[in-house]
Amino acid sequence: MIVPEDQAGAILTIDLGAIVHNYRLLRERLGGAACAGVVKADAYGLGAGEVASALLREGCQDFFVAVLTEGIELRKVLGPGPRICVLNGTLPGTEGEFVEHGLTPVVNSLPQLAGWREWRRLHSGSDVPIFLQVDSGMSRMGLQPEDVTLIAEDPSLLHGLRVKCVMSHLACADESEHEANLAQLQEFNRLRALLPQALASLANSSGIFLGRAFHFDLARPGAALYGINPTPGRPNPMRPVVTLASRISQLREVAEGCGVGYGFMARTSCTTRLATISYGYADGWPRNAQASAFFEGVRMPFFGRVSMDSIILDAGACADRLQEGMLVELISEQQTVDDIGAAAGTIGYEILTRLGRRAHRRYVGDNA
Ligand SMILES: *Cc1c(COP(=O)(O)O)cnc(C)c1O
Repeated sequence: MIVPEDQAGAILTIDLGAIVHNYRLLRERLGGAACAGVVKADAYGLGAGEVASALLREGCQDFFVAVLTEGIELRKVLGPGPRICVLNGTLPGTEGEFVEHGLTPVVNSLPQLAGWREWRRLHSGSDVPIFLQVDSGMSRMGLQPEDVTLIAEDPSLLHGLRVKCVMSHLACADESEHEANLAQLQEFNRLRALLPQALASLANSSGIFLGRAFHFDLARPGAALYGINPTPGRPNPMRPVVTLASRISQLREVAEGCGVGYGFMARTSCTTRLATISYGYADGWPRNAQASAFFEGVRMPFFGRVSMDSIILDAGACADRLQEGMLVELISEQQTVDDIGAAAGTIGYEILTRLGRRAHRRYVGDNA
């Protein structure tokens, strides 16, 4: 939905320059390894077309999406050059769509592999390039160790296919001291030695910060590009990317002892100035995340429950300066997506991917 700015209850500003800056920073950390852009889920809600185009101009040549339809859309935007890989693999019978749109499947299981062999048997042409994902310990997606052994013993299982890259995914990369990281690294190295020579890829955003041994040939950051802290518990090395502002839809003054919002979860203890803003859980704000809005840096705490389409603020600190229609900030350097994630008992990723379906989107810092 495209929402004109003057009609929008909220404005989501996405700094493409900051995304490019973060991409460069990750590339520097990687030294020689290539850096992909993970733009699944509409680039974590920020607009896959805009984000991927900016990364492409920066020299990014590898993109990851989660599902086929995302890949088809992205191919239209990026043109034929860059590689687009589909992380969730192939659903049975969709092989032709992958080939038609030049999408690289991440093959995750023996049945998916069989589907591709069958497709190749029925269609002539050159070998189909694939990524092979192995499960190095997360138990989510990818070939299991015994599947890899089968392939090692019977190379014809890869007939007609060309393994471009062997990849795996880390379960605990955001906990740098977690013993699973080294265990997965070792298992990844063991499994990849059983497979044909190919590029290797293991690290997501946090994995890049675990050190050289995790970098291999290609890293796959998503979150860090979008400003989420890849090193929780330590200072965030990334530049903030999103700001979210919401409009004041109503200002009022209520007397002492008034119930405020659903269930009267708040009650005024004195005469109180309230501001109601046009943002709620239908816009992606978690209903359980009690936080604040900011006006010119001054904090206005939420007062009472988050509603579907609105949030009530205790506007006492700024009431003299506020008018209906003015913007207050919900996400900024004062209150980051990671902060909101913590307040909601979740992670910044979930906050980011749900933001702003009804918001007007403004892209800034574009280098095009
Ligand atoms: C989502 C995803 C990534 C990107 O992870 P971030 O933590 O956002 O950097 C990389 N690889 C795979 C397999 C993923 O599913």
